Amino acid sequence: MSAAAGGVRGRLAPSPTGALHLGNARTFLIAWLHARRQGGRVVLRMEDLDHPKVKPGTALAALDDLRWLGLDWDEGPDVGGPYAPYVQTARRPLYRAALERLREQGLVYPCVCSRRDVEAGQSAPQAGEDGLAYDGACRGRFTGYAAAAAALPPGRLPAWRFRVSGADETVFDDGFAGVQRQRVGETTGDFVIARDPDGAGYMLAVVVDDAAMGITEVVRGDDLLAATHRQLLLYRALALAPPRFLHVPLVVSPDGRRLAKRHGDTRLAAIRAAGVAPGTVVGVLAWWCGWAAWGEELRPADLLARADLRTLRRESAVLADAVKERLRV
Ligand code: GLU
Repeated sequence: MSAAAGGVRGRLAPSPTGALHLGNARTFLIAWLHARRQGGRVVLRMEDLDHPKVKPGTALAALDDLRWLGLDWDEGPDVGGPYAPYVQTARRPLYRAALERLREQGLVYPCVCSRRDVEAGQSAPQAGEDGLAYDGACRGRFTGYAAAAAALPPGRLPAWRFRVSGADETVFDDGFAGVQRQRVGETTGDFVIARDPDGAGYMLAVVVDDAAMGITEVVRGDDLLAATHRQLLLYRALALAPPRFLHVPLVVSPDGRRLAKRHGDTRLAAIRAAGVAPGTVVGVLAWWCGWAAWGEELRPADLLARADLRTLRRESAVLADAVKERLRV
């Protein structure tokens, strides 16, 4: 099946951390509306690679929260579809094949540098955590992955790092954030694509999967804006066509910080258990976007006529006291 012939394909890509909270919910609602407004299909992909301890059942339970909210999808782990499987841990052969292509071009090498460095690249990284550019200490250091693994204590795995050429500049026109430019060689340097012998880690997998599933629009939080440049280098190296990216602001605490436990339990599961109706939650999410009046009760489908991304509020959504009270957070 040709994705190009199929029109717009958007995706929801939850990680099964059990923390499907108001921030993710808002981003998913925007992504869903953006695809549906264009008559597009919605794909649900479970990004469980970096969470090996999560039981498959728990991961799928998170989908129930999304359905409760009123979101639906045409393809996913529970409904199947032409690009199955839709769970990343079941897609390892694809990551291995992509890694092999990068290895053949001499574009990756195994690295044993600090765990902190490696972990920052392994999970979806947050803006500001990128730190200094990697110095390339492990470039050309090991004959192969096994040799690198032998240099580490048991239980620790080397990372695969992508070799960045200093001159590589990436430019893309974000559908919400506008034109973005970066020289990854200067900002990040050689970056981690996975910490796994088969290349099964967030950075490589997200590129392989969005391309393999024919995703045309990636709507996600703007904490991934910087990482997009690294992903574009992977698209280029693998000769894959990148999707259109739209990075939207996150939900933050009143002091402007990322939501954390101390700001209250914003998990959808907790809000649901407190007896709040889904329409109330969707109403607040839409109010944050500038698409609803305070106090409206809405289904996602009610927002189809209003949810023009050009009118999405540019400021971060704030978890204000009134919101906490209304959602019993
Ligand atoms: N699974 C990632 C997350 O939950 C999303 C990554 C992406 O949208 O590219 O943070």
